[in-house]
This record gives sequence, C-alpha cells and structure tokens, in this order.
Amino acid sequence: MLRVKNINVAYGSVKVLWDVSFTIGEGEIITIIGPNGAGKTTIVKSIMGLLKPTTGTIEYMGRQIHDTPTHMIVKDGIALVPEGRELFSKMSVMENLLMGAYTSDEKEKTLKWVFSLFPRLEERKKQLAGTLSGGEQQMVAIARSLMSRPKLLILDEPSLGLAPLMVKKVFEIINILNNENVTILLVEQNVHHALEISNRGYVLETGRITLEDSSDKLLDNNHVKEAYLGM
Ligand code: ATP
Repeated sequence: MLRVKNINVAYGSVKVLWDVSFTIGEGEIITIIGPNGAGKTTIVKSIMGLLKPTTGTIEYMGRQIHDTPTHMIVKDGIALVPEGRELFSKMSVMENLLMGAYTSDEKEKTLKWVFSLFPRLEERKKQLAGTLSGGEQQMVAIARSLMSRPKLLILDEPSLGLAPLMVKKVFEIINILNNENVTILLVEQNVHHALEISNRGYVLETGRITLEDSSDKLLDNNHVKEAYLGM
C-alpha cells in the first residue's frame, strides 16, 4: 500500500533522515519506534507532503506521492493524527470534526460512523475542544482524522501524556479501526503496547532504520528490550 524508498530529508542544511526505507501492506498495523529526535515525526510529515525529501520516493497505491500536495494526499486516503493533537481549541467538538471532513461528500454518514466509535463525543459535540480532558481531546483528534474516511491512518504518539486507562482505550480504538479495514502506521514511545497490537515494526535511530522485524521478534530482541522496554 505504501512504499517509502531511500528517502533523505533535511531541515535546511541539517540532514535528519538517511536512506529511510519501509513498507506498509494493506490491512497491516506497522509501528515505528525510536528515541526522541530520531526523526519519526519527520517521516510522518514527509508521507503527508508537509516536507519534501531531497532524494528517494514515496509510493502510495502504486502512485508516486512525494510531489503531491497535502490536501490531495488526504483526498487519496491518508490521514494524520498529529503529535500534540493540534485541535482548534476555541471551536466545538462538532466544528473540529467538520474541519476534518473537507474532502468528504458523505459528511452525515461519516459523522454517524465516527459517533458510533466515540459515543462520548456525540454527547459533547457542542463543548469547546479546549475545555475537554486530555483523553477526550485525543479522541477528537482521532475522530477528526477519520472524517476524511482514510484507508491509511497515521498516528504520531497518540498515547503521549494519557493516563493508563485512556492509553488502553486508544489502543482498543486502533484495533477496532484496523478491523474495519483501516491500515495503520503507528509512531509510539509506548513500545510494549504498540508492538503488542502491530504486525511488524521498524526501529529508527538517529535518522536511520536500524532494525526491522515482526512485532513478536522485536519484543524479544535484546536491544529493543534494553533500550525501549527498560528490561
Ligand atoms: P520525538 O519523539 O521527540 O517527537 P522524533 O523522532 O519525532 O522525536 P523529529 O521531530 O522528526 O523526531 O525530529 C528529528 C530531528 O529534526 C531533531 O533533531 C529535531 O530537532 C529536528 N527538527 C525537527 N523539526 C525541525 C525544524 N522545523 N527545523 C529544524 N530542525 C528540526
């Protein structure tokens, strides 16, 4: 479904990604783990067309997208739940959701689907997003991204700063979405949870993929255990 091949990305003269390659098959849950500053968000922004690789290619459903504008990438079926959520805090839950639906011809139907996944948001649809709890805000961020009916959903550290029960809920939602045919790319610091629900994973360290394997094997890998699972 998505094939990232040898991308190099820089901010000005500072190179951040070095020949990064990975694939995501339709229906998979793929996790990218790595320490702070490794370049995980840079990968995500490159896929969304927010950053342009200096070299390398990004192919989605058989088409090159590394030159495609972000709104077209969203229309083609990729959506992002950004790190830090980036909600419109002075707008209501409903207004936030509708902002995510700008590419959709079926707003009402999609809203129904989204509210069936997040009944709490329907109860709170008139509340200003900035007054919601952190967990509820993360739900709005995920729900907003679903309003474009993505085939591939990218979540950048969705469990960051959430209490354990809410973390559990976020991972449950990811599983439910995957069962509804949404392919998932997950960037996570919560390595144990992320690898438990994913099929395969990649380790990114200082801008390079240093390890790739099935999630089971990564959970059993000594380097992953020491560096990311504190074992
Ligand atoms: P974290 O887990 O802390 O979110 P990350 O793996 O997502 O980190 P990135 O946010 O991709 O890492 O950052 C990779 C490197 O690029 C870091 O050294 C960061 O300082 C640098 N960087 C990120 N954004 C910019 C920018 N706009 N301008 C210059 N350098 C940047």
